[in-house]
Amino acid sequence: MTKRCIIIGASHAAAQLSSSLRQEGWDGEILMIGDEPYLPYHRPPLSKTFLAGKKTADDLAIRPAAFYEKNDIQFRQGRVTGINRSQQTLTLSDGETLNYDKLALCMGSRVRKLALPGSELKGVHYLRDIADVEGIKNNLEKDQHAVIIGGGYIGLETAAALRKLGMQVVVLEMAERILQRVTAPELSEFYTRIHTEEGVEIHTGISVSRIAGKKHTEKVICADGTEFPADLVIVGVGILPNTELADKAGIDVENGIIVDEFCRTNDPNIVAAGDCTNHFNKIFNRRIRLESVPNASEQGKSAAASICDASKEYKNLPWFWSDQYDLKLQIAGLSQGYDQVIIRGDKLTSRSFAAFYFKDKKLISADCVNRPQEFMLSKKIIAGNLDINPDRLADDSIAVKALL
Ligand SMILES: Cc1cc2nc3c(=O)[nH]c(=O)nc-3n(C[C@H](O)[C@H](O)[C@H](O)COP(=O)(O)OP(=O)(O)OC[C@H]3O[C@@H](n4cnc5c(N)ncnc54)[C@H](O)[C@@H]3O)c2cc1C
Repeated sequence: MTKRCIIIGASHAAAQLSSSLRQEGWDGEILMIGDEPYLPYHRPPLSKTFLAGKKTADDLAIRPAAFYEKNDIQFRQGRVTGINRSQQTLTLSDGETLNYDKLALCMGSRVRKLALPGSELKGVHYLRDIADVEGIKNNLEKDQHAVIIGGGYIGLETAAALRKLGMQVVVLEMAERILQRVTAPELSEFYTRIHTEEGVEIHTGISVSRIAGKKHTEKVICADGTEFPADLVIVGVGILPNTELADKAGIDVENGIIVDEFCRTNDPNIVAAGDCTNHFNKIFNRRIRLESVPNASEQGKSAAASICDASKEYKNLPWFWSDQYDLKLQIAGLSQGYDQVIIRGDKLTSRSFAAFYFKDKKLISADCVNRPQEFMLSKKIIAGNLDINPDRLADDSIAVKALL
């Protein structure tokens, strides 16, 4: 009997996992089940080039359809609604039952929804998948007013894209500064300046209380009584990992599906990879749940190896990126818990600088804006647990190559 591996979800983690399975020598069936009507596609461009109209849905494909055909990787559109671990079966929303020998959970995450009066009005959008962005694009007109609720990376990337399309853009952030959940004040200040220079209106420490309009959104009303005209509202207030299916099946879940460094869950036949997981990271010596493409892809490789009884430890340094206007931000490591920040370059007037975060004299993270060399250097230092002199790092006249 041919063995069957089923992958739930068809996005970054699944794309990598399915192809790595073949590389690892899996010669049984591979079936990816995803609830979107697409083969795995790149999600990051959704709030960047795709929203800005510079890429089409076809351009987003992670691999061409021919790749999956050639490697005998099947794709099926559907929603998995239940896992029976003792029978090794899955149930789909249409009632069909499928059996598996190995199962990979790559269910990713979903947007956190607003629970405010008016959030069901037409013109209120989220941004997670192609369908969301197609919906936004149908609404776009130059000079219209867009209100973005949430000043995280997705909100800010969206602001940049809409501004470039000629819209009037307001960003409303509940915290005292934009990007508060993910980065240090230095970077928040920098992006506040850049967006303001580009014509985006940013309000922080403000809480939205309702969205008003007859059928379609007309304005956003805040708790302090301030009102903002809104032809379009885009909500970017975070995501939630899709863990309910695993939880219901008795798989260990705590802020993500618990996996070890080989992406194994507490069931020997089930692995998990990507946004929906929570793993122990050796570099940072703690459990973390990451929301990033590099994490999904690298975990996909480890999970595939585990399915094939090989072992490929996932021990990568977390890294991320964000594109806004002409700025490429690359982030190495995680800055939480830092006790010293070193700035290299001019963050007050230029569009290129790097912020390095130290803890107990060790570099733990770096935010590099249009500074690819500093990014590569930081990855090397953090992953290798190397020492670096902060004073030399701060001196922009010393070439990056000479710093180590
Ligand atoms: C707008 C946007 C911009 C981003 N920009 C960046 C960036 O610049 N850099 C970066 O590193 N990361 C970025 N990210 C994050 C990145 O896209 C995610 O970390 C990545 O997509 C995670 O991949 P994944 O495969 O784990 O899950 P996901 O991409 O979330 O995919 C999971 C898939 O599984 C499906 N699914 C869930 N449950 C079921 C079920 N029961 N049955 C069937 N299918 C199911 C989901 O619908 C989805 O299609 C961005 C994300 C968004 C939305």
